Amino acid sequence: SRKWRVKPTVLDLGDGVTIGGNSLAICAGPCSIESEAQMEKVMDHLVANGVRLMRGGVFKPRSSPYAFRGLGLEGLRDFHRMARARGLKIVTEVMQVSQVEEMHDFVDVFQVGARNTQNFNLLDALGGVDKPVLLKRGISGSIEELLSSAEYVFSGGNEKLILCERGIRTFETASRNTLDLNAVPILKAKSHLPVIVDPSHGIGIREYVPTMALAGVMAGADGIVYETHETPETAASDGAQTLDFEESARLIRNLRRVYQLR
Ligand code: PEP
Ligand code: MN
Repeated sequence: SRKWRVKPTVLDLGDGVTIGGNSLAICAGPCSIESEAQMEKVMDHLVANGVRLMRGGVFKPRSSPYAFRGLGLEGLRDFHRMARARGLKIVTEVMQVSQVEEMHDFVDVFQVGARNTQNFNLLDALGGVDKPVLLKRGISGSIEELLSSAEYVFSGGNEKLILCERGIRTFETASRNTLDLNAVPILKAKSHLPVIVDPSHGIGIREYVPTMALAGVMAGADGIVYETHETPETAASDGAQTLDFEESARLIRNLRRVYQLR
């Protein structure tokens, strides 16, 4: 809480990659890690555009058990090896306590997904690791609940946390979720932790993702995380909210321009 720590937290991931403070963190990548060929294309795109943080799930929480559920630990090892060779840092979702140790050496930032924001056993386990945790807001979670979940990790001894607004479930059906941009200034006022916005899950519609990403920056976010893929139409998950590389490159440029206006 800002009550006892006024100074904003800056997370140093090493090799000149930071989250929070006086810079805008841009994290992009596919919803799911699918193959080495897919990763290579995304990585080339990120490197060419100066993006150092790559997202990508190897354990996927899917609404249907028959949907693609990720490449698992083997995929993560490939992801890690390829990312290291290119100076990229990895953000990837951990779904259960037993994965924390297995994943640890291959991860730069552990993502806790919206379905696990109140998995208190998982939060306790992450309180004991020495790597940053990107904590997403629960699908129907309040801002206060997000902060309480962060407190689980924090009080366990891990103060490396990033709060993520990724849209909440409302009565609105015109978009996948309702991106609650109100949460950005409120979280920034209540907490010293970096706040990032996920416009991909927030609105769920590809053509509107850039607009909401830019709005997130103007609302005060310390970073943006979004989904990109060489061919969104063929993505194993979340293709409908995934930018192609041309859209992604344009967004990266505009994010940097808009950040300068703050
Ligand atoms: C994701 O980042 O691909 C994801 C599953 O996000 P969320 O937990 O916010 O739905
Ligand atoms: Mn996704």
